Amino acid sequence: MTCDEKEILQRLQKDYNSAPVHILVTVLAVAVFIGTRHVFCKLRDEMAFLTVVIVGAGPIGLTAALIATQSKRVQKIIMFEEENRHNVENRSYQICILPALVSFLRSYNVDFDNLEGIWNEGCFYTRVGIYLEYIIHILPIHQTNTEIRFGTKVK
Ligand SMILES: Cc1cc2nc3c(=O)[nH]c(=O)nc-3n(C[C@H](O)[C@H](O)[C@H](O)COP(=O)(O)OP(=O)(O)OC[C@H]3O[C@@H](n4cnc5c(N)ncnc54)[C@H](O)[C@@H]3O)c2cc1C
Repeated sequence: MTCDEKEILQRLQKDYNSAPVHILVTVLAVAVFIGTRHVFCKLRDEMAFLTVVIVGAGPIGLTAALIATQSKRVQKIIMFEEENRHNVENRSYQICILPALVSFLRSYNVDFDNLEGIWNEGCFYTRVGIYLEYIIHILPIHQTNTEIRFGTKVK
């Protein structure tokens, strides 16, 4: 065996011995990268401010807006309503707010004493326009910037 061959063999042996260390370092580097990325994405999601877009200023849309105002992450709410405000607030059909929903809405500061309607077995009956007008009225009281674009149909 020549001196060169011996040297090459020794180097190969050395590389072979250090291979597990290289693999371990690579695996660790990948794990650190994945972990850091995960933490970064989680932090970014948790700290991000949101703009909530709601289509339709009916009972569901306006109640959703009311709930969204309570989230610290929601910076802005934009609602699109195809009808004008007068038509929305003058809708004449009746809605029944069930007892569980009454408690839920009270937790969002809906003051039923300020709403025209009647109580029957824990249910609150009112004209839908009254409920809508009330929510439209109290939305700006909350800190969240809320904009309702009446007369705007989303296609
Ligand atoms: C005649 C009638 C009688 C009823 N009686 C009762 C009752 O006695 N008791 C009861 O509990 N419930 C009753 N309801 C049902 C109650 O009105 C509904 O459950 C409730 O209105 C549903 O709310 P919502 O917000 O999902 O939908 P909606 O009230 O229909 O609101 C949807 C809103 O979205 C808007 N919109 C739709 N498409 C677009 C668009 N593309 N772009 C922008 N805006 C859009 C509409 O103009 C509307 O304002 C009645 C409904 C009707 C029609």
